[in-house]
Amino acid sequence: MTVRTRIAPSPTGFLHLGTARTALYSWAYARHHGGKFVLRIEDTDVARSTQASVEQILASMHWLGLDYDEGPIYQMQRLERYREVVEQMLAAGTAYRCYCTPTELDEMKEAQRARGEKALYDGRWRPAPGKVLPPVPEGVAPVIRFCNPPEGDVTWDDLVKGPITINNREIDDLIIVRTDGVPTYNFAVVVDDWDMGMTHVFRGDEHINNTPWQINIFRALGAPLPQYGHVPVILGEDGQKLSKRRGAVSVTAYDEGGYLPEAMLNYLARLGWSHGDDELFSSEQMVGWFDGSHLSKSPAQWDAAKLAWVNAQYIKAKPDAELAPLVATQLAKRGITADERLPAICALFKDRCETTVALADWAAAFYADVKASEADRTQHVGDGIRPAIAALADKLATVTWDKASIAAAIKEVLGAQGIKMPALAMPVRVLVMGTPQTPSLDAVLALFSREEILKRLQEA
Ligand code: GLU
Repeated sequence: MTVRTRIAPSPTGFLHLGTARTALYSWAYARHHGGKFVLRIEDTDVARSTQASVEQILASMHWLGLDYDEGPIYQMQRLERYREVVEQMLAAGTAYRCYCTPTELDEMKEAQRARGEKALYDGRWRPAPGKVLPPVPEGVAPVIRFCNPPEGDVTWDDLVKGPITINNREIDDLIIVRTDGVPTYNFAVVVDDWDMGMTHVFRGDEHINNTPWQINIFRALGAPLPQYGHVPVILGEDGQKLSKRRGAVSVTAYDEGGYLPEAMLNYLARLGWSHGDDELFSSEQMVGWFDGSHLSKSPAQWDAAKLAWVNAQYIKAKPDAELAPLVATQLAKRGITADERLPAICALFKDRCETTVALADWAAAFYADVKASEADRTQHVGDGIRPAIAALADKLATVTWDKASIAAAIKEVLGAQGIKMPALAMPVRVLVMGTPQTPSLDAVLALFSREEILKRLQEA
């Protein structure tokens, strides 16, 4: 058996962090087993699906490096196939037309609630031997409903949660095709998972209640069941479910925010799955380890500080030549064009940065004027130190322009003026970089041109 997994986002918004994580698990599982990973776009909610969302989903998958072997497959391009299956089901008696109007359905539910019962479709259009169906009303477009087994349990051994049982009395004859002929999620998903030969389905546990219906439809079609793994939700830092209104941001927002895709994957992987105590690992390592075990049964909590820490580790480890283009992109957004100094700037500052945005903040000082705060100027650039700054500028005007010669010049000025390093380094940093906290001064100065340093020192 070839393992086949998929991710099936609905293009009704950006790719959620939860969906990205499920995509990662599905991808890693397929890769681990040498199987196939499929991307399917579930766009049957025509009113809410947008092309912009599709593009954002594709961009997010690409950014994360979650490559798929098949797809994107669009459900709206498969309507013919759904129609064909529905016809077969109508002919086989596993589906039927229901002519209830919305008002009738409301009244039905109202009455059930009044009796303290669960609101479920009462099966009034469901054919049965000897049953006389109501007369077909004029001008009412029917929906098509699935003949759900009225009794018995649906049980599956969930890859994440273990055995789950739901009784058929808890669920009703769901609508599989709307009045406009478009199939509903629970039906299209089954036809697709069947046609696309899905062997394993990882998805968010908000779908657990849909799974018994889907299993029943699979059985009605005589199709082989995939194995399901329902991954718990991601909670926000406030302990509430991440949602659009509560802190959930798109995957692409992390790209913009200066996170590296490999750090994001690492963080998402650990959010609900573990391999011993390993915190930092590559996606290749994950693929080697990810066999579907060690997925957490309980919700994971988003931890922005942890993600920032993971990102910082990846930034530190990333070769400067690879980091520089990412920082250049961040600088370009500020209208700054970087140059060949950028890899060296990255090398000098990356240890103190959690994101490429923070790295761009530092790098910007090399390409645009800086403005120190009044407080820093007052504290560090006082009258007493001006002669030393002027002496340093004099020295720097003629030294060979490299780090070692600049270091020697600074030392000489310190000796001649009888002052200690911080007394000179702090004001020079404030003038050159706009802040008193920077890496070693000689290294910073060497990354500027001599002219620029002399110009900035004149601001004393
Ligand atoms: N379109 C569904 C969603 O985005 C997919 C669920 C599934 O994987 O079956 O939640």
